[in-house]
Amino acid sequence: MSRADHERKEKLRAFLTGEKRRLWSEVRDELFRKQGEDLTPQYDLPQDIGERGIIDLLADISLAVADIRREELTRIEEALRRLDEGNYGICDDCGEWIAEARLQADPYVACCLRCQNRRESALTPPHPTL
Ligand SMILES: [Zn+2]
Repeated sequence: MSRADHERKEKLRAFLTGEKRRLWSEVRDELFRKQGEDLTPQYDLPQDIGERGIIDLLADISLAVADIRREELTRIEEALRRLDEGNYGICDDCGEWIAEARLQADPYVACCLRCQNRRESALTPPHPTL
């Protein structure tokens, strides 16, 4: 792995880890707030509940928001796994690196800007007939 590869990987890892931490703290806040609001708390949350415990808990709670969070957490785990395997941040279409700024705007984007534009122009004709 070249030095540039390595630097990019470390930068992306720091970014994804930061996103993951932010997500976890949001999930914790939400769960504890939810627990505080309910008159008869259904779930007794220990303060030191682990990540696995929260994932299981989210699976139990029938909240739309819990589903969304669980999905996001799963996706970020997936992104970190792919980063370790060297497959993260690579364009699905052309196999080139996706720009870091683009990944930071949307960590789960599947292709580079050039291919995205090409996909979009393939969907919409260049000269629409009115
Ligand atoms: Zn591409």
